[in-house]
Amino acid sequence: MKQIDLPAAAEEILRTIWQAGYEAYIVGGCVRDASMGRVPSDWDITTSAGPEEVKKLFRRTLDTGIKHGTVTVMVGSEGFEVTTYRIDGEYLDGRHPKEVTFTASLEEDLKRRDFTINAMAYNPERGLVDLFGGQEDLEKKVIRCVGDPKERFSEDALRMMRAARFAAQLGFSIDEGTKEAMKELAPTLKKVSAERIQAELVKLLTSEHPDEFRTLYETGLTAVFLPEFDACMNTPQNSPHHVYNVGDHTLKAMEGVRADKVLRLAMLLHDMGKAVTRTTDENGRDHFRGHARVSEEMAKKILHRLKFDNATTTAVCRMVKYHDWQIHSAETEYYLRLALHQIGKDAFPDIFEVNRADVMAQSDLWRDEKLSRINRLEELYHSVLDQGQCVTKEELALNGKELIELGVKPGPAMGKILDRMLESVLEDPARNTREYLTSHLESFLS
Ligand code: ATP
Ligand code: MG
Repeated sequence: MKQIDLPAAAEEILRTIWQAGYEAYIVGGCVRDASMGRVPSDWDITTSAGPEEVKKLFRRTLDTGIKHGTVTVMVGSEGFEVTTYRIDGEYLDGRHPKEVTFTASLEEDLKRRDFTINAMAYNPERGLVDLFGGQEDLEKKVIRCVGDPKERFSEDALRMMRAARFAAQLGFSIDEGTKEAMKELAPTLKKVSAERIQAELVKLLTSEHPDEFRTLYETGLTAVFLPEFDACMNTPQNSPHHVYNVGDHTLKAMEGVRADKVLRLAMLLHDMGKAVTRTTDENGRDHFRGHARVSEEMAKKILHRLKFDNATTTAVCRMVKYHDWQIHSAETEYYLRLALHQIGKDAFPDIFEVNRADVMAQSDLWRDEKLSRINRLEELYHSVLDQGQCVTKEELALNGKELIELGVKPGPAMGKILDRMLESVLEDPARNTREYLTSHLESFLS
């Protein structure tokens, strides 16, 4: 195994701890990533020194998780988490195990970690410590539990989500025994808090392989935290526009947008309403009338249940609501101005990305026509922007303050005037001048 190039600051921390007579290694994700030639996001350190000893060795430290043995050592503006070797107690519902026991043994600390590829340690003097075949699994591109998978998932059910998350991020497959244990223990995910599930879900969705979400379904994990997705998998789409059931279409659509949290969540949820709106006509063809609206409502409930913040929820729901707005749109600048006003200027151009991903996950019937339509709408959108056409009250040539100067009383009536001015300007952007709006003030009053 080749040597790992550590950042100078991390190396200095390791040396300081060693010189004080304790052991110290970089550990976990950074050893995995560096071994793969990836740039680690952070460099975690594990040590035989207790947290109080660590604090004594460095000038600037933060008590990040002192009860769990974690101290952040600051070097310049960068922080390094230094954690004492430990054995975890039960995880219960929280982010951290309920209790931890410190240990003098590196092996004990590595044993408590989730997967072989995450259970390696390294320091420049001792080299790599790989007790569970982590390097071999990296080569084989396999996610495998340290020890008995059933036991490990029983200790912390979140690890099942993490298995799929790492598979998605690294493009690995999950070892058969590990996957079998996931299938068996999936129902126990219900013990895990929504916050922890959310964090792993977002990492999986925003990875290079969001279709790994399928593993969550196949192992029975979605049945616990997103049964609505299981319903999608059981909803056929007998229509010339489709080749997949709703669930498979959803997985395909997720791959069609950038690895962005809002976009990937939007694609995951965009057709949830199809399971409940499906009707089959006399020719055996399926219809999903009003499904975008229903999906939006479901998305709101689901995101709330998974404890997403309001900003994310609002942004995702908007994308879900308008995921197929292009079907009903007119190809005029006026229509685009109305859309920008109603949907929100900041929803664009992402919305076109969502529209395209949806179309690309359908059958190829009229696909070129569908995509051309989206392209034309996008051109109109750019044209409206390039001409600096007004689509919000803030962009009106007259603002509230100026209306007051013209003798309008502040209050709800003024809001109405601004609304009417905007309506008029949306119809004809040439009207957005001080002169026009001032001279037509009377017509906006009634
Ligand atoms: P990332 O790049 O996403 O941060 P990571 O491997 O660093 O990946 P973290 O969630 O930051 O993942 O965890 C750091 C390390 O702690 C892991 O590599 C693993 O060794 C261990 N670990 C984290 N969570 C668990 C868990 N629930 N059960 C067992 N070990 C865990
Ligand atoms: Mg990490």
